[in-house]
Amino acid sequence: MTETRPPMRTVTGIAHVHTYYSYDGYYTPDQLAHIARARGWDFVLVSEHSNHLSRAAFEELVRTCRALSNDSFLMFPSIEYTCDHMLHILGYGAGYIDDFPTAPAELAGAIKKRGGLAILSHPRKYAGSPGLITSELLDAVDGIEVWNSKLAYDGPWIAPLGNYDFVRPGKLAFCGQDAHFGKHFSSLVFRVRVASLTREELLASLRSGRYTMTNGVFELDPWPPAPSARTRFLRAADTACALALRQARFVRNLIKGTGKLRPRPAIPEIQEREQKEQRQ
Ligand SMILES: [Zn+2]
Ligand SMILES: [Zn+2]
Repeated sequence: MTETRPPMRTVTGIAHVHTYYSYDGYYTPDQLAHIARARGWDFVLVSEHSNHLSRAAFEELVRTCRALSNDSFLMFPSIEYTCDHMLHILGYGAGYIDDFPTAPAELAGAIKKRGGLAILSHPRKYAGSPGLITSELLDAVDGIEVWNSKLAYDGPWIAPLGNYDFVRPGKLAFCGQDAHFGKHFSSLVFRVRVASLTREELLASLRSGRYTMTNGVFELDPWPPAPSARTRFLRAADTACALALRQARFVRNLIKGTGKLRPRPAIPEIQEREQKEQRQ
């Protein structure tokens, strides 16, 4: 008897989202799930900063995400690792890596070895220090987050096609909202073909490039678009948009000071647990 596979369907969801398990995140996983469901998203790829994230805290997040998931909604917990020179690498589906290597290419190798997807976060963050994104790193990762809709990086409006320059042949283009609190949420989503909504199936579909990314206006593929008058126009528009954003941030920082991060909200359970771990 042959096993019949359920038909493929398209699910919509978001990637690169932080909860209060990140030092600068705000929402509880429960609140995040509530926001996602209210917006009609079927899954959330959660990505907590590795900074100060203990194994026990991550395991607690895994249990919480499992309890919030069912056949039609999936919370998928992962980690965004901070490497040398503050370079960030997303390790989707790799679990918690104890004493992770801080050399970016080496870390990407460790993520892949654990069956995860290693994605270089927000390349635009490193525009001022291009030497950080090495050829070795671009070869080592599974893909690049070509569209990070946070205003500090690519913004939610225009497809940042220039970031495809970092995508080596055979590698994937990814997107992410990098949401830490309310104002970061955007309409940038993944639309993924899956047979069922499980962690394994979603990861396999992402790895195989069975998806598109859209903000509702532009739709991007995992692979670079063919050069055309339209793509040239979009690249120019994106460059202009990036320059305007940089100027706007400069002016905002002049007015507001240095634009410091909000302090992490005090969560007694987490503080207590961290103090306990430090004592051990
Ligand atoms: Zn980051
Ligand atoms: Zn992030």
